[in-house]
Amino acid sequence: MQRIATLLTVLAAILIINGCGSSSTEFECAAFLAEEGSMIQIDVDMTEGSDYGRELLSQYTSFELTTDLSVLSENECRMLPHLFAAGDQMESIFWKQAYGDRDALLASIDDPALREYAKINYGPWDRIGGNAPFIDGVGDKPAGANMYPRDMTREEFEAAAAADPTLADLYTVVVRDADETLKAIPYHEAFAEEMQRASEELLAAAEYADDPGLKEYLTLRAEALLTSDYQASDMAWMDMKNNRIEVVVGPIETYEDALFGYKAAAETFVLVKDMSWSERLSRYAQLLPALQEGLPVPDEYKQETPGTDSDLNAYDAIYYAGDTNAGSKTIAINLPNDEEVQLAKGTRRLQLKNSMQAKFDKILVPISEVLIAEDQREFITFDAFFGNTMFHEVAHGLGIKNTLDGSNTVRGALKEHASALEEGKADILGLYMVSELMDSGELEGDIRDNMVTFLAGIFRSVRFGASSAHGRANMIRFNYFLEMGAFTRDEATGTYSADYDKMIEAMNALTEKILRFQGDGDYEGVAAFVEEYARVPQQLQTDLDRLADAGIPVDIVFEQGLAVVGR
Ligand code: ZN
Repeated sequence: MQRIATLLTVLAAILIINGCGSSSTEFECAAFLAEEGSMIQIDVDMTEGSDYGRELLSQYTSFELTTDLSVLSENECRMLPHLFAAGDQMESIFWKQAYGDRDALLASIDDPALREYAKINYGPWDRIGGNAPFIDGVGDKPAGANMYPRDMTREEFEAAAAADPTLADLYTVVVRDADETLKAIPYHEAFAEEMQRASEELLAAAEYADDPGLKEYLTLRAEALLTSDYQASDMAWMDMKNNRIEVVVGPIETYEDALFGYKAAAETFVLVKDMSWSERLSRYAQLLPALQEGLPVPDEYKQETPGTDSDLNAYDAIYYAGDTNAGSKTIAINLPNDEEVQLAKGTRRLQLKNSMQAKFDKILVPISEVLIAEDQREFITFDAFFGNTMFHEVAHGLGIKNTLDGSNTVRGALKEHASALEEGKADILGLYMVSELMDSGELEGDIRDNMVTFLAGIFRSVRFGASSAHGRANMIRFNYFLEMGAFTRDEATGTYSADYDKMIEAMNALTEKILRFQGDGDYEGVAAFVEEYARVPQQLQTDLDRLADAGIPVDIVFEQGLAVVGR
């Protein structure tokens, strides 16, 4: 026995020595990243600065963007500094699109708290406060941000764009030419330096891409940044399926252009795919065509067939830059936006699990403790929150992309109202799908969880304000649902309760209303509908004030950067 014990001790010692020996030569991702540069840091817990500035900052709470780096290969890890650096270029471009000269603005603000707040907002206008200016003397935010001349009228633009369609292109900036006429400058010229550097970083990252799909995407995306022609890279993005590292980079969403919704704003997400969650989610993509057929609208409003190649994955987000990092933070993505790519390849839905958990824990649960009736609070669950958000993204792929008469895309026809209506559609159809799938036994769970969590989610999102498409969509739903009795407010406790049966009725009615507006391309009808419903009635404002008084943050800011990822 003695000899065996000795032998085991020796063996153990050898194992330990080998273990230590190999780990000291092994590549350490966290240590490697800590040496590198990219960081976007905002301090929301400032002790300096005015009360006003600190009060604005207190609407946000901080959250670290980290992930388990041990799942990455050495090459995957080595890609990250390049992807983050490409993100930094999108960050610079977005500042120019949203405001103009970042450094000059920040240098002009003496109050350190307001300076941090300007970083959150990418400018001096409060994104979760209806874009109200928070710096004296800056005036109102131009509807077209910094993407059109400030003195341009809608009429002037529409007349000029009829003759020169490049003015309405997604990837051009509109400026005044020497003769005062309107002129379109493609992004790769307007932001030549940033696009060039971002392109180089993507090519450098592509060198480390072992997955051929990812390599192809990065290569084509690098080219797209230099030509402003993104379609081939969008196709390649949809074709890559087995990559663990995911990156969304370039001019993408059009929300920042509140004038026409034409101009795409620069952003970057760097993401690490959660392979096990993604497997669990993949089967829902197969159900899209059947779900489309089951929509509660006349056949002509569901005549398009959603792409069956769609996929749905869960990720940890490790870098948000530019548009996506401004104001309230996205917890799910649905791309690409190019309708032709959508029809050919479907869309990818990306669920950002770590950001979602942050919002659930730090915002949604505290909100429900103030505004949801005590006997319904047990139905507030992360699984339901995750499910509602997941199906919101699936639902973007449902419905139609073109008006029934074929004359226009829905987005083109509904202009500045297109985003709010599309987000409203996705929210309501998401809940519709959860209820259908539970009825048919495809999805396990208790629909009451989804409904009460959905209701609490409305309060969370209404706080984004009328300047956000998601904020407007939630105001519309709040008022529409209230009118239909889908929930009630108890005077004594100041809390809300869902009425499950009436919520189903309201859900179906609003679904039909929105899909008809979209199919008919009814700009006037939508404008009137938004005017009537996208507002915060006095009672709701009083209740939202109670959330603010309780110190519940409206949203999160990220502590993020290469050195943070491995913490
Ligand atoms: Zn959406």
